Amino acid sequence: MNVTFTTAENEFRSEVRKYFKEEFPQDVLEKQRKAIPLTREDTVRWHKNIYRKGWAAPSWPVEYGGTGWSSVQKYIFADEQARASAPAFLPFGISMVGPIIYTFGNDEQKKRFLPDILEFNTWWCQGYSEPGAGSDLASLKLRADLEGDHYVLNGTKTWTTLGQYADWIFCLARTNSDVARRQEGISFVLVNMKQPGVSVKPIVLLDGEHEVNEIHFDNVQVPVKNLVGEEGKGWTYGKILLQHERATITGVANLKYMLLRLCSLCAKSIKGAEPLSNDRNFMRKVAAAKVELKALEYTELRTLASVVSGKAPGPESSILKIVGTELCQRIDSLYLEASGYYALPYVRDQYDSAYPEEDRVGEGSETNAALVYFNDRKVSIYGGSNEIQRNIIAKHVLGL
Ligand SMILES: Cc1cc2nc3c(=O)[nH]c(=O)nc-3n(C[C@H](O)[C@H](O)[C@H](O)COP(=O)(O)OP(=O)(O)OC[C@H]3O[C@@H](n4cnc5c(N)ncnc54)[C@H](O)[C@@H]3O)c2cc1C
Repeated sequence: MNVTFTTAENEFRSEVRKYFKEEFPQDVLEKQRKAIPLTREDTVRWHKNIYRKGWAAPSWPVEYGGTGWSSVQKYIFADEQARASAPAFLPFGISMVGPIIYTFGNDEQKKRFLPDILEFNTWWCQGYSEPGAGSDLASLKLRADLEGDHYVLNGTKTWTTLGQYADWIFCLARTNSDVARRQEGISFVLVNMKQPGVSVKPIVLLDGEHEVNEIHFDNVQVPVKNLVGEEGKGWTYGKILLQHERATITGVANLKYMLLRLCSLCAKSIKGAEPLSNDRNFMRKVAAAKVELKALEYTELRTLASVVSGKAPGPESSILKIVGTELCQRIDSLYLEASGYYALPYVRDQYDSAYPEEDRVGEGSETNAALVYFNDRKVSIYGGSNEIQRNIIAKHVLGL
């Protein structure tokens, strides 16, 4: 594989680097470096900033507002985004429902929804999982009963990431229960969250953050015009979306810079103690992670190249998901080990007084290493757990 860059590609890299240094909201980068969670306002503001730059949807077709970048440019952009410690795009609009709408939606839906997704005027969330329907998603029970020109929704979705901020939710719902296979009779519907009958209940995770929710639907009316594609074909659309989701969870660029920051942390001597970089046992674990990351990077580049040549990501994206998420959790563990007791959570509004400056071991992010470690337990579960990904590889890649 050729990994040298052309002059034009290097110029593109400089342009992206300059953008993150000069135009992107610097307070957002600062929070990211210190692993402080972003507020809703932060998230909307930085997405709108990148929209104004014309870079809000690197993977969309140009006719809908995509950048028209080559696979190499996308790679460079993601690399610079991670290098600057910028947050990754929130996936629910740009990477999930957007591609489903421009691929399977009608013209009216494209006109109505895509511009607002692009400009981040609407916040979307994903309504797939239910209590009792996670890995076995086809057993989902949210009902969408047709009554005249609208569906009536009743049931519950759960684990809905950032649903507390969302304006819209895309749901897999059961429009027909009288089917031969459970995968049939499921439809893909777009639901306005700001209407009677929709209620959002918080679920607080291991790191103490309110990141996910349970969403209840009690006789919620959804116009038939919000059905995407054909009724009963939601499983097909939903599966394609999951393959896109898995291919983007990997976050190779982010892992690369996490490892680089870990190495610079290890090179520091704290209060005269020997730096961790002299600990051969620890550094052997860092080196093993680096080697695996390099291999993952090449696998991701191959997948990216085939997507750009028109091929939708297939079951191979499960491999990316497993390796990327397990590596992420390993790097989190190394960071935790390197940060020692400084990794313990701080009281956020006392951040500056939590540890004296001279006691810090990194750029400030180590004081959140434990929270990041706990939060990232999720990455091997969401987007379909890694055990399920192994089943998919066995069946669809290895043909077992
Ligand atoms: C932080 C977080 C955010 C999430 N965000 C969203 C969201 O925004 N929208 C959304 O729709 N969903 C979301 N999810 C849900 C996620 O997709 C599910 O948690 C996941 O699919 C697993 O389903 P489950 O939790 O019901 O576990 P279960 O399906 O009950 O699985 C429990 C355990 O059994 C294992 N298991 C189950 N079946 C098999 C099998 N056949 N073979 C081998 N092992 C098996 C699983 O791997 C897992 O370890 C999120 C989850 C988390 C943790």
